[in-house]
Amino acid sequence: MLPRKDLFDLPEGVIYLDGNSLGVLPKSVEERVAETITAEWGQQLIRGWNKCGWMDLPDKVGDRIGVLIGAAPGTVTMGDTLSIKVYQALDAALKLRPDRKVILSDCGNFPTDLYMAQGLVQTIAKGHEIRTPAPDGVADAISEDVTVVILTEVDYSTGRRHNMAEITAKAHAAGALMIWDLAHSAGAFTVKLAECEADFAVGCTYKYLNSGPGGPAFIYVRPDLINDIQPALSGWLGHEAPFAFDLDYRPGMTIQRMRVGTPPILQLAALDAALDVWDGVEMEDVRNKCLALGDLFIAEVEARCPDLTLQTPREHDQRGSQISFAFEHGYAAMQAVIAHGVIGDFRAPNTMRFGITPLYLDEGDMIAAAEVIEKVMKEEMWRDPQYNVRSAVT
Ligand SMILES: *Cc1c(COP(=O)(O)O)cnc(C)c1O
Repeated sequence: MLPRKDLFDLPEGVIYLDGNSLGVLPKSVEERVAETITAEWGQQLIRGWNKCGWMDLPDKVGDRIGVLIGAAPGTVTMGDTLSIKVYQALDAALKLRPDRKVILSDCGNFPTDLYMAQGLVQTIAKGHEIRTPAPDGVADAISEDVTVVILTEVDYSTGRRHNMAEITAKAHAAGALMIWDLAHSAGAFTVKLAECEADFAVGCTYKYLNSGPGGPAFIYVRPDLINDIQPALSGWLGHEAPFAFDLDYRPGMTIQRMRVGTPPILQLAALDAALDVWDGVEMEDVRNKCLALGDLFIAEVEARCPDLTLQTPREHDQRGSQISFAFEHGYAAMQAVIAHGVIGDFRAPNTMRFGITPLYLDEGDMIAAAEVIEKVMKEEMWRDPQYNVRSAVT
């Protein structure tokens, strides 16, 4: 049952409400990475690729992630960062619908997803247009000229959640393809990718899946589409036979064609071990606990801090796992909150974000965190110049 705090290496005296940005270190990871370095890399050297299963690790780990996102074995692979996976999925979708020229996203999407789309549109230079209506207007903006709808299920800033099944069905009815970015979904709640027939999904693993900073991303392709996909990033490890060293690219016949280059073995080993914390966990329990903790946190903060304005929808089916509050001096206020042992983060222009990760948080943490936020607000600590110095990462 939850929480499973004992499985994590949490620093003393910290309440960590930023697992939506960088997950906590699972204890299993330390041992596994040490072993991968000393016993595998150190002793096996190049033999590790065959003897230690390194080459199969992206697909093996992909299958474990598949379990968490409702995808069948053999439909998810790992590698690179999420930005790259967005690019691959988007390019593949555009090639599947060459007669259409519209990419539909929303203005609440994470900027890199839009930046990658902008770069791709420039590179292929076929006159594609990117439309970004407000999140609640996306469903109505799906028209017969749309090539692909690309959305992040949960808004990284406000925590608002799209209805994945409904939007996917609407995209398909209009003849468009559907890409879901699950950065704030995988490991946060139940995702039913195959059931809603999404065409592509991508996501990162260093947030709710605790793989560590820069951990590899995942990509899912609907199995009946995979062999029609012409990979934009046609690297040798997506080749049908990388070690044939042919001079011409021939895509692999499975999800392996979405691989690019050499897999990051240390980070994949970290992720593989990090996924052990989900063994025996029911995602429904995680979700229910998350909503209950979120409700408690909202009630406690609203009662104590009248100057903070809730940005996250109160309705359970319309929110992900994080709770966000708007406050004009949010950056400095968050620095003060962090200095007092409660770690959340800030997203411009005015959002204070608090991630609720039930594997290592409980009711007592919610109340204690609200007390710290109350103290910062009542004492107007955000006025203190030391909390107004901007770091590169907010
Ligand atoms: C965190 C996040 C990213 C980050 O992309 P990287 O390439 O891993 O840096 C991209 N998209 C969304 C929606 C995110 O939440």
